[in-house]
Amino acid sequence: MRPLVATIDLAAIRHNYALAKRCAPGRQAFAVVKANAYGHGVREVVTALHDEADGFAVASLEEAAEVRALHGEARILLLEGCFAAEELPIAAQLRLDIVVQGAEQAAALLAAALPQPLNVWLKLDSGMHRLGLSPQAVRDWHARLRNAPQVAELNLLSHFACADERAHPLIEQQVEVFLDLLDLDFDQRSLANSAALLTIPASHMDWLRPGIMLYGATPFADLSVLELGLKPVMSLTAQLIAVRDVAVGESVGYGASWVAERPSRIGTVSCGYADGYPRHAPSGTPVLVDGQRVELVGRVSMDMLAVDLTHLPDAQVGAAVELWGAYLPVDEVAQAAGTIGYELLTKVTARVPRRYLA
Ligand SMILES: *Cc1c(COP(=O)(O)O)cnc(C)c1O
Repeated sequence: MRPLVATIDLAAIRHNYALAKRCAPGRQAFAVVKANAYGHGVREVVTALHDEADGFAVASLEEAAEVRALHGEARILLLEGCFAAEELPIAAQLRLDIVVQGAEQAAALLAAALPQPLNVWLKLDSGMHRLGLSPQAVRDWHARLRNAPQVAELNLLSHFACADERAHPLIEQQVEVFLDLLDLDFDQRSLANSAALLTIPASHMDWLRPGIMLYGATPFADLSVLELGLKPVMSLTAQLIAVRDVAVGESVGYGASWVAERPSRIGTVSCGYADGYPRHAPSGTPVLVDGQRVELVGRVSMDMLAVDLTHLPDAQVGAAVELWGAYLPVDEVAQAAGTIGYELLTKVTARVPRRYLA
């Protein structure tokens, strides 16, 4: 077997969910499990949180159906609502909570014949300008949907654009736009993603929507998982499959983009961009070999990448490599590669076997 595996610590996910709840006592929390639970495996993650989670949140009806099959009772929130009117009766059958993010969705809901009413979350565009109704449109639709036969609970939801940048002026602006609608008698309110949950108590409302924090990565550039008390969940581990000496002036990898400036010992690692490792990670990106930090050198290939072992003369073929995980935060690798932990975690490809720790 190819020595590359993503080991997923389900106890760490439970720890991180419990931490989310402790940050906002008395509130409920949708565990966000869209995109195959951020690449961790929706089946295993929903099962691990089966008894703890108040609900789950997903991005599509297909994802919702998968969660419903694993959990008969949990509330399941469809974050972008239904993409077509035909999805509404299916959403009702699956007993979903649906977002209504625009006038088209609201009109389709009012026109739908449903087997049972749905919990509806009117989405307010409080300033991100991606999805959502204007404050006035929320008022109008609130009046029209409040007693509609298609609607069970009528709830309010919005989403932050910059919750990960502490003290960004848009944060307070968005909270104000949200609170301006407090006079409307919504049953439940929800505003906070992970970043807001962790740093903006005024955003906690009734329901939290933690995603990235459950998976042990930080939404912040300047606050690490360690500082937040979160536990890393996914460890992507490989091995050295070759080791060689390279003389001054010799190059490593495609494009010969890295050239040895001193006599160097180069290791080849069994992980590449077809596994989800970012191809654009530059030379110098950290990698762990036998628990020691080394640097990526040269271009990442489809199935392999190279590291500089010059200061690790004892590292041999077969040595343990961690690309990110328990000992090398995914956020650090993401930062070096000019991206975010979210992207690295969700892009680990299907050919990488997942192994689960209970
Ligand atoms: C994905 C998503 C979340 C979770 O965000 P994190 O930053 O991962 O915590 C919350 N709310 C909405 C609407 C989302 O799309």
